[in-house]
Amino acid sequence: MTDTPLDFGDPADLDRLRHEFRAWLAQHPLPERESGEPVQVFLHRWHRLLHSGGWVGLDVPERYGGRGLTALHQVAISDELGACRAPGVPRIGYLAHALLEFGSEEQRLRFLPRMLAGDEVWCQGFSEPGAGSDLAGMSTFAKRHDGHYTVRGQKLWTSYAQYSGLCLLLARTDRSAPAHKSISAFVLPLDRPGVTVRPLRAANGDDEFCELFLDDVRVEESERVGAEGVGWALAMTTVSYERNALDTGHISKYGLLVERLRRHAAERGGSLPDGLLSRIGRCVVDYEVLVAHARRRTAERLAGQVAGPESSVDKLLMTRTEQRLYDTALEVFPAELAQEGGELFGDYLYSRAASVYGGTSQIQRNIIAKRILHLPSNG
Ligand SMILES: Cc1cc2nc3c(=O)[nH]c(=O)nc-3n(C[C@H](O)[C@H](O)[C@H](O)COP(=O)(O)OP(=O)(O)OC[C@H]3O[C@@H](n4cnc5c(N)ncnc54)[C@H](O)[C@@H]3O)c2cc1C
Repeated sequence: MTDTPLDFGDPADLDRLRHEFRAWLAQHPLPERESGEPVQVFLHRWHRLLHSGGWVGLDVPERYGGRGLTALHQVAISDELGACRAPGVPRIGYLAHALLEFGSEEQRLRFLPRMLAGDEVWCQGFSEPGAGSDLAGMSTFAKRHDGHYTVRGQKLWTSYAQYSGLCLLLARTDRSAPAHKSISAFVLPLDRPGVTVRPLRAANGDDEFCELFLDDVRVEESERVGAEGVGWALAMTTVSYERNALDTGHISKYGLLVERLRRHAAERGGSLPDGLLSRIGRCVVDYEVLVAHARRRTAERLAGQVAGPESSVDKLLMTRTEQRLYDTALEVFPAELAQEGGELFGDYLYSRAASVYGGTSQIQRNIIAKRILHLPSNG
């Protein structure tokens, strides 16, 4: 039945799930963003509505509040959401995976059901003013005492911390061990004494980013996720899920714009300015490559392959497709793109961030060079 890009030759149960979801969507139209409503508040309403229908955490085991289905089911629903231009899927998959892989059973049972339901909102406290690309250089320190830690430091670019109750926080727990063995992860309740959250306004008008100041904040040992020193491994798992186009519904969203460009080229081909036709063609090719790649990646995931350095290839492909697509749309639909508050305007501005969040494009290329191609380092 699927007419979305990620057609897996849908097995019957996946087909049924897509049907079921479309029927549910027909009964639960997409909410409108109210005038002046912060984007995160709007997305949170949407998250809760989706959860009420059973559409969040499809691949998370039932005992943790998910539906116990496969990655393929999750991808199919993300694909459906993108195809109907629904707002972004709640971006919690990568945090959920971090807890699934590194959290204790007690932590999984305590946090995952409420995270999936949107009863507790989470943010990610990794980057610092002097440690973004060089995450290993972070200086936030958690000093160990008997049964607890005190955390001191600063985080930056923490998305939507002002709307969050909990933060997955990275801090150094050992100053003498090599960087990659000295970072630990914690669940930090943001209402703890000593935590200050200061929002920053971005160029698109949203108050997505925050600074987080941590002034001798007490964190219990039971709030550490995994053993001391596993923070680096946890961070790499988290960002590899964050670097993936599959879980976001982006692919079908790009597909709608590619289709518009394709139609425009078919109708106006001969009269388009020099080079524009070939730039549209390049967008179509980028998009087809991304779709083929996403299908392969889904098959690998289903076979149990854990996301590794290959996710840097995913991130680069996604970034290139998105930025070229919106650059070309700017040439083809300039008036629509310039319409402040319009959908394309917001999407265009956010596409600039794709080469930064989840690790910059330069860093993805470094990872590919070192860990996939094993090229010699010159430094
Ligand atoms: C929309 C968005 C949301 C975000 N949300 C969060 C969040 O919720 N939580 C969080 O912790 N972080 C978040 N971030 C931060 C993001 O992870 C960092 O911005 C990113 O890792 C880059 O770090 P930086 O900004 O410090 O840049 P820097 O590391 O200072 O890099 C500056 C420039 O130098 C280049 N560079 C740096 N080192 C190298 C190198 N070794 N080789 C080649 N080039 C290099 C970079 O590519 C970049 O162009 C978010 C960022 C964005 C854009």
